[in-house]
Amino acid sequence: MRFGTDSQVIDCPYCGESYELIVDVSESEQRYIEDCYVCCAPIQFNVTVALNGEVCVLAQHENDC
Ligand SMILES: [Zn+2]
Repeated sequence: MRFGTDSQVIDCPYCGESYELIVDVSESEQRYIEDCYVCCAPIQFNVTVALNGEVCVLAQHENDC
């Protein structure tokens, strides 16, 4: 059982800007859409948390899934 948040640096698939994303790691698998902090485009995030606690974030175009 783990809880809390982690931060990951992601690259926006639209504008290419890197920024820090705060990830809720209480769920082992999540998909959600959040607007880019820089260009405000809707980014589809796929977040997976491995058993060892390693967080993997995929940022994709909204219609790319
Ligand atoms: Zn962007």
